[in-house]
Amino acid sequence: MAQLATPTEAAARLAELQDKMGLRDWDITLDLKPADDHTIAQCYTVTGRQVANVLVSKEFWSASEEEQNLALAHELVHCHLARLDEIHDAIAACVSPELARMSSTVFGNQIELTTDAISTAWARAFAT
Ligand SMILES: [Zn+2]
Repeated sequence: MAQLATPTEAAARLAELQDKMGLRDWDITLDLKPADDHTIAQCYTVTGRQVANVLVSKEFWSASEEEQNLALAHELVHCHLARLDEIHDAIAACVSPELARMSSTVFGNQIELTTDAISTAWARAFAT
């Protein structure tokens, strides 16, 4: 593998990781719109469907190969965990706004920690 320099290369790597990470039944696209400035990549999943768009930021293109792979793997783990987000959102709609806000913060933080742990292990495994 090598550092990704073009959207075509990034889309190919995303597809490769999608396959290795067991997301063959998902429709995942590298979106050419830039990700938000505060993140190297981000992912939007479609509620109730196995569809996602992955966006990368300007800094993605100057990141190391390892950082690029980790960023893509991170967004793909979010696809695996998307149903948990949907379940959380359904439950949060049934509780008070205060509890929903607190729950969203705690849940969101835990999802990120879990996503980081899994994607780090996966990206390291694929680098060898
Ligand atoms: Zn994340």
